[in-house]
Amino acid sequence: MREHDLLDNHRFVRFVDQQLLISTQNTHQFAPIATAAMGLAYPSETYYPVGGMIAPAELLAKAITRYGGVVRLKHRVLSNARYENGYSIDIEIGGARPQRITMKARCVISNATVWNMRSMTEKSDPAMSTYFSQQSRAIDFAWGAFMLYGAVQTDVALPTAYYQIHTDQPLPYCESNSFFISFSHADDRTKAPIGWRTFTISTHTPTSAWLGCSEEEYHRRKQIVQNCIMQALHHALPALRSAPCEYLLSATPKSFAFFTRREQGFVGGVPHSIQRSLLRMTPNVTPFQHFYMVGDTVFPGQGTPSVALGALNVAERVTRFL
Ligand SMILES: Cc1cc2nc3c(=O)[nH]c(=O)nc-3n(C[C@H](O)[C@H](O)[C@H](O)COP(=O)(O)OP(=O)(O)OC[C@H]3O[C@@H](n4cnc5c(N)ncnc54)[C@H](O)[C@@H]3O)c2cc1C
Repeated sequence: MREHDLLDNHRFVRFVDQQLLISTQNTHQFAPIATAAMGLAYPSETYYPVGGMIAPAELLAKAITRYGGVVRLKHRVLSNARYENGYSIDIEIGGARPQRITMKARCVISNATVWNMRSMTEKSDPAMSTYFSQQSRAIDFAWGAFMLYGAVQTDVALPTAYYQIHTDQPLPYCESNSFFISFSHADDRTKAPIGWRTFTISTHTPTSAWLGCSEEEYHRRKQIVQNCIMQALHHALPALRSAPCEYLLSATPKSFAFFTRREQGFVGGVPHSIQRSLLRMTPNVTPFQHFYMVGDTVFPGQGTPSVALGALNVAERVTRFL
């Protein structure tokens, strides 16, 4: 940008930074050229899953069952103990009557984050705990997300289902000058009835802005951010200003921590930075026999395709000995 005298063009720099933030989790000063170049092309070659983000996950679950696998929901791994002719995994089964069981496994592929792995192995396996502590210490920062979900009644033919909306000032408690909104497709009846579109808004926020404050302060902050986003949305898309809007619901890193158990509600993986080589990321292969990692904290990329690619690499290794 310096070479092309673009650094003084604040609108351009802001656009580039917001593009890089969603793709590399960093801004132009720190994002490495290799992933930044790919990130600037976002959202080209992205697709809309009919039924929303859950639809591909449900398809995967069906495929696992079809091939003889078992998918168990509400089974929370509490700890993972060392390898002795297999791993012993303590699990809490949620529901009306929670209970604990221990499962044995010859091979484990974990898609918990590296931060969660540290706490999951803390009491059960000192060697693993030391390894994951070292790995997580190397990551000095990760982002959280502020989300706003809702449904809007509108006949306006939106030219795209996806918008990036820029604000003049950073959103309060969010350190971000933009947010992203995805509408459900006008013909996607699994998401909304005729004339209605659901929407999902997301923006980056530091998790520290939401954890540790009082319940009252937390709700106050949530309301402030929600109001700012709705105001900016109506400014950018005036056609929606008078449109009936229902089911407005916001979520913060606290919600992510509660529903997904991701430590501190960190999302988006590990920010890419020229200060930390991507080659130093936690690899899929761990020093522990038959223990592998997948997920967005062990792959230098963003989103479901990256996680799937990391998982394919692991699958190729595991099927060699299974
Ligand atoms: C706001 C936002 C918007 C996004 N939009 C897109 C998008 O449009 N397209 C896209 O491709 N990607 C998108 N992503 C990125 C995508 O969601 C992630 O890359 C992906 O979910 C990471 O997958 P994962 O398996 O690493 O982690 P997760 O999706 O967090 O999966 C980990 C799973 O493990 C479970 N778990 C955690 N702890 C335990 C435990 N102790 N025991 C048992 N289970 C446990 C969790 O409940 C969770 O189901 C978005 C992310 C965010 C935050």
